[in-house]
Amino acid sequence: MSDESQELGITESKSHKPGEWYAEVVQKADLADYAPMGGFIVTKPRGYALWEAIQDALDGWFKETGVDNVYFPMFIPESYLEREKDIVEGFDPEVAWVTQGGHDELEERLAVRPTSESIIAPFMADWTRSHRDLPMRLNQWCSVVRWEATETKPFFRTKEFLWQEGHTAHASNEGAWEEVWTRLGQYERVYEDVLAIPVLRGKKPEHDKFPGADTTTTVEALMPDGKSVQGGTSHNLGQSFAEAFDITFADEDEEEQTAYTTSWGLSWRAIGALVMTHSDDQGLVLPPTVAPTQVAIVPIWQEDTKDDVLEYAEEIAEDLEDAGVRVELDDRDGRNPGFKFNEHELNGVPLRLEIGPHEVDDEEVTLVHRPDNAESVEDRDEIVDAVDEHLDDIFDKLYEAAEETLEDNVREAHSPEEILGTIGKHGGYVKTPWCGDEACEEVIKEKIAAEIVMQPLADEGGSTAGEVPEPEHDECGVCGDPADEIAYFAKSY
Ligand SMILES: [Zn+2]
Repeated sequence: MSDESQELGITESKSHKPGEWYAEVVQKADLADYAPMGGFIVTKPRGYALWEAIQDALDGWFKETGVDNVYFPMFIPESYLEREKDIVEGFDPEVAWVTQGGHDELEERLAVRPTSESIIAPFMADWTRSHRDLPMRLNQWCSVVRWEATETKPFFRTKEFLWQEGHTAHASNEGAWEEVWTRLGQYERVYEDVLAIPVLRGKKPEHDKFPGADTTTTVEALMPDGKSVQGGTSHNLGQSFAEAFDITFADEDEEEQTAYTTSWGLSWRAIGALVMTHSDDQGLVLPPTVAPTQVAIVPIWQEDTKDDVLEYAEEIAEDLEDAGVRVELDDRDGRNPGFKFNEHELNGVPLRLEIGPHEVDDEEVTLVHRPDNAESVEDRDEIVDAVDEHLDDIFDKLYEAAEETLEDNVREAHSPEEILGTIGKHGGYVKTPWCGDEACEEVIKEKIAAEIVMQPLADEGGSTAGEVPEPEHDECGVCGDPADEIAYFAKSY
């Protein structure tokens, strides 16, 4: 290995030092860098492109299902934040405050939004007069700030992060539930169909739901290091925000009614989950669905074959581009093919096409898959269809590997020792009957920092929406008391 390729390559190991490895991949694959202030990052073009891919998919689905985009101020007056007391208490230690504008002290402090219910709800109240105004579905793409004093981990733990937050109002609780499931389903779809990450779908335990919410639903993704990532949450807020902010409407009989509201959010943590799930010791691995470059063509020439090889490669690049493939012809003179292979590997380009004099003579192309180096040869004439099929194969390989990890890592346990031992040894999820008492979570949390990340849902419609199914065993896996709920314990990001 030359010095140059050593500098390019990843030096940490995913299995031995996942934290260090992750930080190195994010920086060396040019996704993000650290800002001068602790807790903030700079998102680089290749990292932002991943966010745009997620954004494009979700934004399209939101609009197809009745959502309008809006933009509200990043500051919230303190008196507004205080109108819903659970929000104040829930976010209190993490709120950043503006107290001065220019040289003048402000009469009222302004919170930098930790989430926007408190600024959006009063306007929804203004805009909602009659049942004909409902449902009202608003979404904004923005950043929020939560001043957590933890070690910075790009896309996982930063004080400011990008997300979307949806806010809706409905005439009935059934309408609100339907909304909650629609958005949770779209989050599930973005993980599974766009990011190639299977997720578990469920709700958060009562003590861990969004401040002020009736129910918080979640999609959870299992990372290869055995920890769970909360991938996106969709909250049924019941009537608490509608009551606090007077979101009322005249029903069909002209009677005044209080609305039901929901909110739902997915952040750039999805990028963190993406990097963590698929990448390896050679660098970034991306599914073709989101890869800024899907195909890298590397021509391999000697002086006497250069013109022929380049011409052949250029024609193939044009054909692929015309077919809508994001393709890069890497015809840089000063780099040898080995260096180029390493660089495209590090950057997570899903498919590499190698073209040398041999390929030109035989009218063929050599294709190499990024995730596993699987190599095959295809006819030049059928290259567009072949590339399409290979990109699909690569997506399937990534999804199947992640699915296997998930399936192998949901285990049952029926005593505190068993829960602790199983998570300690294997990580992953431990499924156990639970009495519903937070104290039982504490027992596990104190010993190994694992908590209840998810409870499976019995029924996603009707009057029992949000209830969890009855466990087969009826004794709490921690205290042994009667249990009528199921809980999934895991360590989490
Ligand atoms: Zn218990």
